[in-house]
Formats: sequence, C-alpha cells, structure tokens
Amino acid sequence: MDELATESTRFDFSSGYLCLDYCNTADGNLKREWKENLHTYDDIVLWGREAGIISENEAEQLTRSASEYPADAIQTLEKARALRQTMYDIFSAISAGEQPESKDLAAFNAFLNEAGSRGTISEGLQWEWVSDSLEKPLWPITWSAAELLLSEKRGLVRECGSETCSWMFLDTSRNHSRRWCDMKGCGNRAKARRHYARVKSAE
Ligand SMILES: [Zn+2]
Repeated sequence: MDELATESTRFDFSSGYLCLDYCNTADGNLKREWKENLHTYDDIVLWGREAGIISENEAEQLTRSASEYPADAIQTLEKARALRQTMYDIFSAISAGEQPESKDLAAFNAFLNEAGSRGTISEGLQWEWVSDSLEKPLWPITWSAAELLLSEKRGLVRECGSETCSWMFLDTSRNHSRRWCDMKGCGNRAKARRHYARVKSAE
C-alpha cells in the first residue's frame, strides 16, 4: 500500500504483511492490557476494505447481511478477535525464537481448514473465495498467516520492543536489527526515555 493510502486509512498497514497488520488491530500489549480497535462487525469490514481484501460491493453486501443478522455479526466479531489472538500468540512465539504452542497451532488449523473449504481454484487458475458468509474477511487473513508461517520470511517476524506495545512487523532492515513497530511511535518514545535518563544521570 502506498504512503498516501496509508495516511487516509483508519487502520495501520505498516507491518509489511497482511496477517501482521491484522494482529495490529489492537493497541497496547496483547499479553496484558490492550485497547480494542475492532468494536463492531463493521470495523472488520472496514479493515478488509482498507487492506484491499474485499471489494466495495462485497463490503456493502456484508454490512447489509450484518444488520439483518446481528447475532451472527457479533459471533463473527468474537471469532475475528479469537483469530487475531491465536495468530498473535503464534507469531509472538516465533519472533522470540520459540516453538508456537500446540494448542495455538490446533486453533489456527481449525481456522485454516474452514478458510480452505470456502475457496476454489478458478478456470483462470486464480484462488477465489466462493461463499458470502459474514466470515469472508477472515479467510484471506488466515490464508496470509499460513503463507507467512510456511515461508522463510517467518524468520523476519518481530514484536515491537516496547513493553506497552505488542505490534508485529516484518523486519526487512538490512542487518535485521529493527526493534520498534515504527519509528514515529514506539521508537521515538524509547529514544526520548533514553535521552531523559541520560540527561538525568548527567545532572
Ligand atoms: Zn510498538
């Protein structure tokens, strides 16, 4: 996504990978305390639109179905949050050089099997999602996580170095030394703290 589009979106898409952008739909630390940014089903639709995984028509259709079936919409929202937590737990472990827990992989595989059953390879040899369920935005996210887990890029997954932030990103810096989710936010705050500590100790 280009710079301009990033600025005009409500959600952040700077992680470098779709599924990690989705992990970053909560601010704060997903292990402790966080601020939820997915409040309603419509937020999932908006995220999907901004991420470019659903079309404008699909978005309208999903929003309409959600208002017709509010209980299903709430259930899907809960599922969307559970998917995020599962993906976060897996990628957080990987970024720390640990093995993901088998319960998290089992949970993820359940999402993956479901997503896989909703798609098909078209005659033009493209992957197409064939169902119009409210869960549609979750499938490409799940797919993206499976892709990342199976790719060499998984070794580049990092979790922000700030204690109060658990945003994930792909460290594509030349010497793989990036520590913060983005230098505008967490990195600058950390730098300011170090500067303050230096000034204090020099007094
Ligand atoms: Zn951060």
